[in-house]
Order: sequence, then structure tokens, then C-alpha cells
Amino acid sequence: MPLLDSLGRDHQYLRISITEACNLRCIYCKPTEDTKLATVSPCTTKDRPHTMSYTDCLQIVSLAARFGFRKVRITGGEPLLHPEIAKIVKGISTLSGVEDVSLTTNGTFLVDRIQELAQAGLRRINISLDSLNTETYTRITGQGFLSRVLEGIEACLQAGLHPVKLNVVLLKGINENEIPDFLALAHQWPVHVRFIECMPFLSSTADFYIPTDRVKQQAREAGFPLVPVLERSDLDGPAELYRIPGAKGLVGLIHPMSHHFCGQCNRVRVTSQGSLRPCLIRDHEIPLGNALLDPQMAYQVFRKALLMKEPAHPLKRNGELEIGTGASEAEPQFLQPPLRVQPDRKLPERKMYAIGG
Ligand code: SAM
Repeated sequence: MPLLDSLGRDHQYLRISITEACNLRCIYCKPTEDTKLATVSPCTTKDRPHTMSYTDCLQIVSLAARFGFRKVRITGGEPLLHPEIAKIVKGISTLSGVEDVSLTTNGTFLVDRIQELAQAGLRRINISLDSLNTETYTRITGQGFLSRVLEGIEACLQAGLHPVKLNVVLLKGINENEIPDFLALAHQWPVHVRFIECMPFLSSTADFYIPTDRVKQQAREAGFPLVPVLERSDLDGPAELYRIPGAKGLVGLIHPMSHHFCGQCNRVRVTSQGSLRPCLIRDHEIPLGNALLDPQMAYQVFRKALLMKEPAHPLKRNGELEIGTGASEAEPQFLQPPLRVQPDRKLPERKMYAIGG
């Protein structure tokens, strides 16, 4: 039975965070406050309370698949720090109703793990790569792992994963000068290079924001014409896609701030503690708890989460929140009124590593 929200958006895309632990300290995300989450080695579910067990993960995804979710993205934190990541990929890939499984990773463990993940059923992957320059990469992530990530990307291509998408968060004054280098990478490598506008989850990061229009401008100046790709697949997500003539790869622009795409949102997130989070930006979460054991109860929890969804996220470019719905465009008619929630007045408590980006 399709799960519609009050705007009639059909939800088929589940993003599940399997751990909050991460081995990087990206300046716009930063899991530093909680030292338990700052780790460099695989964690166990026992010693890391923010890590989801294999059993809970499979139970949640199989329920979601029953309710019409067809696409699943495994994320975190850093999902490759989960001790049972390959088993999770395999389990989810073989669940009835799941048509597509993907993973978002920082890429630092891929060289050693990609064969195992591909054998487990992983066909496509998103890898975060915010700089091609060793010093800048280290400045952004707090770790000097650039060459490991680049080797990991090559390993994914060799293992036959397709598409391999590279996520580049645009950061003013930090990596904006590398836009032409990333375009050159999309020219040479059969990857999707996706430029993402930085969302100011941390108020200190509001100054990093640059609109993706800057990519179009720099592409023109650098002699990389961007030709819109009109034919779209279900798996393209919210990225506006462009082709550079003669290039092996594609370029994507993801602009949650300058032109939000909430009107097409078909996602629900699950935190590593097993709560449904209907919107990335709003702090509303509903724990699945005992509903995990009762499909009818679980269906009601999913419905409740969906009815909490609003027309648009409330985040403003300066890191403040709009009071109310935050809709910046003409609002579609509601099929049912949305649950009225307290207007948001502060930035989300959880950061991306804790929600699952
Ligand atoms: N550890 C994995 C990784 O690095 O890809 C998965 C988790 S990470 C939170 C998922 C994605 O969210 C990454 O591509 C990251 O760049 C993006 N992200 C995190 N904070 C962001 C922000 N403030 N604005 C835009 N994207 C952000």
C-alpha cells in the first residue's frame, strides 16, 4: 500500500543510518563533541550505543519494503565502520520488495572492502570527496586520507559499480577554487561529480555557503560547457544532471538552499537508534520501538511520520530557520492538513552524522 504524505508525495526511499561513529571530522558536520563517536576502527554494536544491530536494521527495512519503500540507502556516520556492513548489504539486497540498495561513504575503507561489498550485492555507491588537494582535504576532514579515497574510487570502478557518484560539498573560500579540477575529473573518469550546497547545520558554517550557480559560471569560464541531461532515471535523485561534451562522466548540481526540492521529497530517514525522521532539517523523530515487532503498529508509525512532513524545509542560508513551514514557493494544496507542530526556532539538535545524510 503506497505511503502518501499530506501533499500526496509517494514515499519509496528509505535512508538508514547504521552508526553515528565516524573516522572523519568534516568542518561542516563534525562529530567531535562526543568522543565515543570519534573512532578510527570498526565499532561493535555493544560498545557503541549509536550503532544499529544487524537484526534491527533488517527488521526495519523489511517492514519499510512491505509499505512500498523500494530504494534503500545505507549511511551514517561512516557505515563502513559497522562490523557487519557486508552482511547488512547482503541482507537488504535480498529482501523482497527492495529494488535498489546503495551506500554513502567517505571512501576511506573502500580499497579493502569493496570486493566484499560488491559480492554482497552492492551495485552503486556515493563517495564524499570535498577536495582533490591533499592539504585542503585534510583541512576539511581533519584526516590525511585523500590518496586512500582516490584509490577507493578506482577500486569501485574496477569492481564494476555503476554509477559511482562523488559528493562534493561546496565550501566558500575553501574548495570553490577546485570547481574546474572537479569538472576535469568528470571529464576523465566515468563518475558523477555532484556539487552540493552546504546546509548550515552548524551556525558556524553559514559562511561556507555558495550556490551551485557558481559551478555553472566557473564551468563556462573554464571551457566546460554543461549540457542538461533531460532523460532521467528513478535513481538520479534530486541532482540536476549535466553532460560535458566528450566527457566520460556526468556533473550533478544539488541545491537544497538556493532552490529546494522538497516538493519532490520521497524520503524517510531512520536514525541509528531506530527512530523515523521525516525531514532532514526538522528535529521531529518517532521511535519505532516495539512497533518493530508488529507490522500494523509499524505501519501506523510510518504514516504518522509522513503526516508530519511539511511542504518545505525551514533552513535559511544564513543558518537561521524560517518560522512556520519555511515554504518559499507556492504551496501545493494539502490532501489532508499536516500535523501542526511547534514552529522551529533553532537549528536541528542532530547534525548530519547523527541523522544519516
Ligand atoms: N560518512 C559518510 C560520508 O562521508 O559520505 C556518510 C554520512 S555523511 C553525513 C553523508 C553526506 O552528507 C556526505 O556526502 C556529506 O558531505 C553530506 N553532508 C554532511 N553535512 C552536510 C552539510 N552541512 N551540508 C551538505 N551536505 C552535508
